[in-house]
Amino acid sequence: MTDIIQVLPDSVANQIAAGEVIQRPASVVKELVENAIDAGAIDIQVIIKDGGKTIIQVIDDGCGMTETDARMAFERHATSKISGANDLFSIKSMGFRGEALASIAAIAEVEVKTKIHNHEIGTFLSVSGSQVTKQEPISTQSGTNILVKNLFYNVPARRKFLKTNATEFRHIMLQFQRVALAYPEIGFSLIHNKSEILRLHKVTLRKRISHIFGKSIDQQLLPLYNETDLATISGFIGNPDAAKKTSGNQYFFVNNRFIKHSYFHKAVMKGYERILSPQYYPFYILFLNVDPETIDINIHPTKTEVKFEDERALFQILHAAVKRTLGKYNIVPSLEFDDEGSVDIPPPPNSGAEVKIPEVEVNPDFNPFSQTKDQIKKPPAGWEQLYHAFENDVPESKNTESPENTMASSGIEPKEAEGMNNNLIQVKYKYIFTPVKSGVMIIDQKRAHERILFEKFLHAQQQEQGFAQHSLFPQTVSLDPMYYNILTEIQDDLNQMGFDIRAFGENTIVIQAVPADFSHFDPEETLLNALQEYQDTQQMNFGAARERIALSMAKTYSIDYGRELTNQEMRELIDQLFACEVPNYAPDGNPVISIIAMDEIEKRMTKPN
Ligand code: ADP
Ligand code: MG
Repeated sequence: MTDIIQVLPDSVANQIAAGEVIQRPASVVKELVENAIDAGAIDIQVIIKDGGKTIIQVIDDGCGMTETDARMAFERHATSKISGANDLFSIKSMGFRGEALASIAAIAEVEVKTKIHNHEIGTFLSVSGSQVTKQEPISTQSGTNILVKNLFYNVPARRKFLKTNATEFRHIMLQFQRVALAYPEIGFSLIHNKSEILRLHKVTLRKRISHIFGKSIDQQLLPLYNETDLATISGFIGNPDAAKKTSGNQYFFVNNRFIKHSYFHKAVMKGYERILSPQYYPFYILFLNVDPETIDINIHPTKTEVKFEDERALFQILHAAVKRTLGKYNIVPSLEFDDEGSVDIPPPPNSGAEVKIPEVEVNPDFNPFSQTKDQIKKPPAGWEQLYHAFENDVPESKNTESPENTMASSGIEPKEAEGMNNNLIQVKYKYIFTPVKSGVMIIDQKRAHERILFEKFLHAQQQEQGFAQHSLFPQTVSLDPMYYNILTEIQDDLNQMGFDIRAFGENTIVIQAVPADFSHFDPEETLLNALQEYQDTQQMNFGAARERIALSMAKTYSIDYGRELTNQEMRELIDQLFACEVPNYAPDGNPVISIIAMDEIEKRMTKPN
């Protein structure tokens, strides 16, 4: 019998390895820019075409490579940065695995021009599908110029999974921003489809932050510095006023490498405890400098996760440093959040103090009609009126459907809402409790409103009939390029929903009008929040762009927890909720309604035997 085991050809092995390192154009950008930084560049240019699908080019003025090194660089495990396993524990450079260039060359067409400073002649090299196709001396500027064309040209399955150019470019922006934040002393520029998106001169970190996030952020920055034996922590944390309802602008860098660290994130959030309302995220950019021997950055191929030797101690240090910084700027917890004996004050986030409500599924077979006639209470006064107000709010086509029909299809019976009468109690400014025939119904106020707005926004688009508009004194807003980019993508949809937003030159827009219902919101802030939400839903795999827009808008404009509701507002909220197509679930799938069944209550009230 012949032997059947074969060693995979290098090109195939590289292609497989590439899957780990290179997920999308943004990963190529990250690897190439990191190489340029390791090469000591002080000016790095990134040129992108078609979201990086056609062209990714990185030009640096770093040390360059010799002819041999240029060729070697494309071999797997070729690295100039470590030479033995021991070096792994003292890595100071960005790269060290020697995989990136080999991986990229396995799945794209690559051309390199490189020259060592003071050398007369440089090297040109082209590699495709892991094969060197050309090598020759050329005259070129000092440094390295790498051009990556047609990413995944030979791996159609991967190419097919790339998202739209705009989306891929947004990923590139995110990677680019992270590196640019970590290296303010390096100049960067980013060009997409021939237009310059960002040009960042070498500056201080503080200036770099405002170049990236917009000038208005500057006044929100509180400098933080803390030095201990374990780590030096430096950077900025945001004034709580600047906190957003969406996460996204929280950055940790360890030895200048961007990382995600949920445990340290908690440490920072704990520092803001009782200062920030629940659901708000502060801005922060924090640099942890630690002895490389106390961390393990090798646990994840894309290297955004890092293991620390002393996480608990660092947690405490970080938490204390954040608290101290806030204290220094006189930002201290307000007294009203402290225990003052009032039961209705919302608990501070993550305090665990909240009473847990037993999870009870909505019972689809539940039928409030089974109650006898005289048990049915009369609809509350003003019901029609409130409902009428709502009718005027919904798009045309829905008016032809009776609310009963839409409710029936949702599993909640029509008379359920009616049976609830005026017994509405707001608990912890978060839930609405109301007795129903089968027990107690609990409605999450924020999620309920999200569902209502979501359907409203969605229909406004489908019928191309927006909300009434409320014109503003035109507001000019300069957006950071990433938001601008998102905005241009969804501008038409927003305008259908009752906004009037126009592009106004470089990264600037003018808001002329907002949907009338939302005229009391700050237009700039809410728009930014909505754009950030939209960005965040990207990771959620959440349906079509339109749905994502509706979701983002619903999340942004929905009433929050902690907001006191009048009886009439609760009433209206519930009426509108039960007129929705899917009242039981918020657009992101979280339950809106829960019923604690009578049985369950009785069980709890029975003496155990
Ligand atoms: P790693 O960065 O992990 O060492 P790479 O595959 O990214 O692996 O790069 C391989 C080697 O090629 C690097 O170690 C470095 O010596 C060289 N190299 C890559 N990019 C550049 C660049 N822009 N300038 C100079 N040398 C480079
Ligand atoms: Mg590298």
